[in-house]
Amino acid sequence: MIVARSLAEASSLNQTFMASVRVSVQAARNAIKQDAFASKIRVGMKTENLNIVMVRTTHPGNIGAAARAMHNMCVSNLVLVNPQCPVGEIAYARASGAGVILEQRRNVASLKQAIRDCSLIIATSARSRSLPWPELSPGQMAQKIRRLSEQSKVALVFGPEHSGLSNEELQFCHFSVSIPTNPEFSSLNVASAVQVLCYEIYRLAESAPVSQTRESSESVATSDDLEAYITHLEQVLIKTRFLDTDKPGLLMQRLRRLYQRIDLSKSEVNILRGILSSVEKYKT
Ligand code: SAH
Repeated sequence: MIVARSLAEASSLNQTFMASVRVSVQAARNAIKQDAFASKIRVGMKTENLNIVMVRTTHPGNIGAAARAMHNMCVSNLVLVNPQCPVGEIAYARASGAGVILEQRRNVASLKQAIRDCSLIIATSARSRSLPWPELSPGQMAQKIRRLSEQSKVALVFGPEHSGLSNEELQFCHFSVSIPTNPEFSSLNVASAVQVLCYEIYRLAESAPVSQTRESSESVATSDDLEAYITHLEQVLIKTRFLDTDKPGLLMQRLRRLYQRIDLSKSEVNILRGILSSVEKYKT
């Protein structure tokens, strides 16, 4: 009887102990999350609005090393687009103490999904393309990100190790940034590129306060707003025969680049869409 009672007691004690372990593990996780959040507050910038987006990364070590680089620089939102490797032991080992960044990461299927609520999207690249994209220096990139992230979400997009971002993926980006390098050996390891660019942002965030040029009540158009406008524009240009679908050339790419460059607000996009609707309704 006594044995049975103590076994029952032991089992209940064991359950209580395991429950308390679970509570402490959760508390420790929350503390780490809060610590990550506190570090965001310490830098003079809303880094919670900054997303580091890694597209089709193939090596888990690079994802881990990027997480570590981000945490060093008080940046915590990692988004993985269709990763080509598991985020397991190797990634956590390379993340070292920055496993929290991996735990809180978001996985999505496409770049479009990753950036849909972002108002500024910057591609990173080691090479220039046939259609030159508006290029920023790392310093200009940091300025833009700091200013826009005061009120909107922004994304810094990194390509896969072997090929970099595709031209199709680049279409979603407003600007591109390249880290100056030896012209004959310009490709950095992707996690090193994350490190250098996050450092550039951190360095600026630590310095002078943000000067706001846009009225704070005016919200910046998101990628979704702009995509809807560009689709609408294309439809109208086809109807008016300005765009020849047999010979489209680079017209839509050039127009997209123009609109992405000018930092449109939501209300400006609404005006442009209103103009398109008036063209659609117009009859001579
Ligand atoms: N052959 C590819 C290299 C990809 S390296 C190319 O020419 O683009 C993988 C990723 O690391 C790139 O897509 C980019 O996100 C980042 N990267 C590498 N070197 C870089 C540099 N000099 N400047 C900015 N980003 C760089």
